[in-house]
Amino acid sequence: MSYFNIDAQALNTYDAIVIGSGISGGWAAKELTGKGLRTLVLERGRDVRHITDYPTTNTQPWEFEHRNQLRREVKEANPIISKCYAFYEGTEQFFVKDAEHPYIQEKPFDWIRGYQVGGKSLMWARQTQRWSDFDFEGPARDGFAVDWPIRYADIAPWYSYVERFAGISGNKDGLATLPDGEFLPPHEWNCVEKHFQKKVAGKYKDRHVIMGRAAHITKPQQVHYDQGRAQCQHRTICERGCPFGGYFSSNSSTIPWAAKTGKMTLRPNSVVHSIIYDEKKGRATGVRVVDSQTKKMTEYYARIIFLNAAALNSNLVLLNSTSTRFPNGLGNDSGVLGKYAAFHNYRAGISAEYDGELDSTTDGRRPNSPYIPRFRNVLKQETNFLRGYAAGFSAGRSSYSDQNAVGADLKQSLLNPKLGGWYVGSHMMGETIPKESNYVALDSSLKDPFGIPQLKIAIAYDDNDDKMVKDYQEQLTEMFTEAGFKNIRVRDSHASPGLDIHEMGGVRMGKDPKTSMLNKWNQLHAVKNVFVTDGSCMTSTSTQNPSLTYMALTARAADYAVKAMKKGLV
Ligand SMILES: Cc1cc2nc3c(=O)[nH]c(=O)nc-3n(C[C@H](O)[C@H](O)[C@H](O)COP(=O)(O)OP(=O)(O)OC[C@H]3O[C@@H](n4cnc5c(N)ncnc54)[C@H](O)[C@@H]3O)c2cc1C
Repeated sequence: MSYFNIDAQALNTYDAIVIGSGISGGWAAKELTGKGLRTLVLERGRDVRHITDYPTTNTQPWEFEHRNQLRREVKEANPIISKCYAFYEGTEQFFVKDAEHPYIQEKPFDWIRGYQVGGKSLMWARQTQRWSDFDFEGPARDGFAVDWPIRYADIAPWYSYVERFAGISGNKDGLATLPDGEFLPPHEWNCVEKHFQKKVAGKYKDRHVIMGRAAHITKPQQVHYDQGRAQCQHRTICERGCPFGGYFSSNSSTIPWAAKTGKMTLRPNSVVHSIIYDEKKGRATGVRVVDSQTKKMTEYYARIIFLNAAALNSNLVLLNSTSTRFPNGLGNDSGVLGKYAAFHNYRAGISAEYDGELDSTTDGRRPNSPYIPRFRNVLKQETNFLRGYAAGFSAGRSSYSDQNAVGADLKQSLLNPKLGGWYVGSHMMGETIPKESNYVALDSSLKDPFGIPQLKIAIAYDDNDDKMVKDYQEQLTEMFTEAGFKNIRVRDSHASPGLDIHEMGGVRMGKDPKTSMLNKWNQLHAVKNVFVTDGSCMTSTSTQNPSLTYMALTARAADYAVKAMKKGLV
């Protein structure tokens, strides 16, 4: 009998375990298998194969049973996920429905999730900007959270490394606030966007309108062909899955790359319950997994563990990993686990119209738009709130055809639509200040369908966020007025945190084990063979879209982990 157990244990033993197969887990899988480690990737959701499992990727608008709109029953059953702009008939299959994984909103919070192989990398909006030292030095300069244990120079080569493989389009703008990367050619501007860029450059020395940097292959390189990916076709229905692999997702890129090494075992339908800590060995030895189909629990073992379940679920897994040594969650000597959870503030927006350029229009679609990097409080504190915001910007022209026409007239009208005026719009992407009072914790009685405690979420915006919304509205109004835009309307959606879908914090990095969970290599200070490299590691939030930073941190940590393993350090 004991022989059988030892055998079973050997069968379930790997060099590395990766929890989650989304953006960060995909990178962990690619890097660890690429360095020769037999790696088990545990994914709670179903398998989603590149191309074959994108059921609506080629569905035409008229082929959708409900014109690509959500049915009323779906909306009523899913008040949370229905708020997400990317959730519609063609993408329903990729989002977690409200009842599937319940959580407790101590404060209103919209938790938007994708549980499947590829995680949210299938549906993301692909905006990918680097951080600069203005971001990494933020907490130390402005006196909040704790100092990051790394600076831009530590991560810069890893940004380059992941950018080359993923394929990031952009322009080298030479801005200190937003370092340039290894860019494929940028997307094109339309004339009104160019007009706005010129007007802003003319009035402000420190404000720039640049083309967004996005994970789209605008000009494939050999490394993209090697992944089986081709040039982006500008279909702009990315969140349904792209058969060309024109944008970066784990499904089209890192996961199949890892599979090709022959070193990866991918186990979908595997809900990680907790990480096993061996008190005698003083290290993590594996994980407990509930099979989502059979509800049976199995243990898997490995030398190192990468936790990449997306920020809030990584918090959950660590909080649920209790032992005599760590009664309050794995590695939680400091008591900060679950605290300083933070999101971005995407509440504000502005729109207007433009009377000029009426002899021009846009040409085709574009899966990207211009971007205004942060300009507030960069070199010095200049407002009554801390930090700042970046902003998206775009211009378009409305067009309409005569829907009452029939036959040849209808065809003519569709081919030669009447053009309306230009409309312009922007949305705010605000940095928030991580606070101890913004936390997640386990509920003591309520369980999810797998018997795992439910997550309580208590995250709220504050006065700093409100002041930032007001400033964005004022500053963008001034910039829009300068550009001659008319009928300017500002808005504050008053949305709850969560809808920006940028989960961060709770397992923050820091130099001091007394005030942080992870060291500069994303290693738990107290359990060196556990690495956490998704958004939960973020000490502060900056204004940039975060996923490129998770990719770079993951590749960097994997490189360190394998070297440390070889030296017997983990
Ligand atoms: C509509 C939309 C637009 C977005 N736009 C952008 C953007 O423009 N730029 C940007 O940077 N980011 C954007 N994001 C956010 C981006 O998708 C996330 O930051 C990114 O996917 C996070 O990567 P991750 O690996 O941490 O998590 P995910 O990609 O969510 O992957 C986590 C994986 O872990 C699995 N998992 C969770 N719990 C467990 C468990 N207990 N056991 C096993 N597996 C588990 C999940 O099923 C999932 O597959 C967007 C997201 C959405 C939905």
